[in-house]
Amino acid sequence: MEIDPEIVARRARERADENWGFRTFLKAYSKLPERRVDALAEQFARQAEAQINCTTCAACCRDNYIPVNNQEIARLAKRLNLTPGEFASRYVQPETSEHDAGIDARPCPFLEDNLCSVYEDRPEVCQGYPYIGGNIASRTVGIIERAGTCPIIFDMLERLKDELGYNYYRRGRRRR
Ligand code: SF4
Ligand code: SF4
Repeated sequence: MEIDPEIVARRARERADENWGFRTFLKAYSKLPERRVDALAEQFARQAEAQINCTTCAACCRDNYIPVNNQEIARLAKRLNLTPGEFASRYVQPETSEHDAGIDARPCPFLEDNLCSVYEDRPEVCQGYPYIGGNIASRTVGIIERAGTCPIIFDMLERLKDELGYNYYRRGRRRR
């Protein structure tokens, strides 16, 4: 498994077309029931998760826009001895038509020595990342996007493409 986030990001860029093709394949051609695909995706992601130490990676803390709601702003502000207004003006981009209010600095300003300095009060989106489990067929956009950041998701996607016969299907199409 590749655990270097820079190599993962480069490979994901190189495979972008292939991965978007997998999205179509999954919806139109995969013969496996969705529940089986979900179970395989979760199994592969858990196996990848066991092979990486997130504290040595932290790619998601360097690479992501972090949406925050008012409750999370209040919690983080309290932790930092700021008022919610002070916290918001220092760290939060206001909501726009394109995205919710959130922390847009990359890396995240709370990443210190590769660790989250506000861990117990980190936003919900950080707590759930990289979102292992659930219905993969309805979440392929997010999964393909996250495969460019997170080695766990990249590895899961690669194994899933192989297991579901997508690589075989692509080779067959190229021969036609
Ligand atoms: S709040 Fe913590 S977990 Fe979330 S992106 Fe920042 S450093 Fe990472
Ligand atoms: S969740 Fe993924 S991107 Fe974030 S630290 Fe762990 S392996 Fe790296």
